[in-house]
Amino acid sequence: NRPPRLHRDIMRIRASSLQNEPIRIMQWNILAQALGEGKDGFVRCPMEALNWSERKYLILEEILTYRPDVLCLQEVDHYFDTFQPVLASLGYQSSFCPKPCSPCLDVHNNNGPDGCALFFSRRRFQLLQTNHLRLAAMMLKTNQVAIVATLRCRLTGQFFCVAVTHLKARSGWEAFRSAQGAHLLQQLRNITTQSYPEMEQEEGIPLVVCGDFNAEPSEEVYRRFMTSPLGLDSAYKCLSEDGTTEPPYTSWKIRPSGESCSTLDYIWYTERAFCVDAVLRIPSEEQIGPDRLPSYHYPSDHLSLVCDLSFNQQPHRLM
Ligand code: NDP
Ligand code: CA
Repeated sequence: NRPPRLHRDIMRIRASSLQNEPIRIMQWNILAQALGEGKDGFVRCPMEALNWSERKYLILEEILTYRPDVLCLQEVDHYFDTFQPVLASLGYQSSFCPKPCSPCLDVHNNNGPDGCALFFSRRRFQLLQTNHLRLAAMMLKTNQVAIVATLRCRLTGQFFCVAVTHLKARSGWEAFRSAQGAHLLQQLRNITTQSYPEMEQEEGIPLVVCGDFNAEPSEEVYRRFMTSPLGLDSAYKCLSEDGTTEPPYTSWKIRPSGESCSTLDYIWYTERAFCVDAVLRIPSEEQIGPDRLPSYHYPSDHLSLVCDLSFNQQPHRLM
């Protein structure tokens, strides 16, 4: 007796070529089970909509609807008992990096710390290296982390790095997020300028960075990413009419403190290396409904972002 899943259209931006199959990327803060039930206080979401026994299937259903080649998740507190085994059986290799001092651990009956998780298609990509980073801010260690994986396309030999992160939440922490972003960009620069045997890229390894940045586009950390020497652009700007505006929201919730509708989640990509072929549309206000997120329809207070990226350059050699 649950309402049917709401459909989200994929907006096609350009035709993908057959020789250059796009890489589908999914970014999603799935809402830690311990935080959703124990800390967030989503006042308009029925508690039954938060039961893990059902909510996990809504999350998995959404992932399997889009079948991403690379899946970047935040607030994962059911990695070992759910996402790792289920997604491994569907062909994904993965890595999990817990937060050093996860707020989930304060919740009664928690399932362990939450953290970032990165999944990729084992059929399409070979893993060359994984880095687990603890983000710093002004030289001090923080409670936020990132995973960076260096992958090689098995078919074309093309290399790229993919990173997943979740920056510090809450207002008043804008400078802290900006410092975390600066640290992450520096680490990404170090990792993407490493070289590997057989690598053809001369200008650094192309990069995709997915995250819940907990920052609106007006924040300094957004500007840092937009103007970094890595040459990144944000995929979801492609949805807007002028091609330069982020969506109006990626998260929409009602807590006792009030309603919050904000753009916090991004998929960054190296502009010279990739084109955005397609982007999954953001549900309308009407689809989201008056009680906002999460709900029986949407298992998290954040919306999933999905885009298809293809390499600008044709591979030099097809194996
Ligand atoms: P953050 O401030 O980054 O937030 C943690 C989580 O809370 C995020 O997943 C965030 O979700 C969610 N959140 C954001 N705003 C609210 C809100 N208004 N109400 C409820 N939840 C919210 O946390 P930190 O990682 O910096 O850790 C802070 C917490 O962690 C402390 O409150 C403490 O419980 C614990 N901690 C404990 C330490 C210890 O020594 N025991 C040390 C450090 C932290 P989203 O990103 O989706 O907004
Ligand atoms: Ca959250």
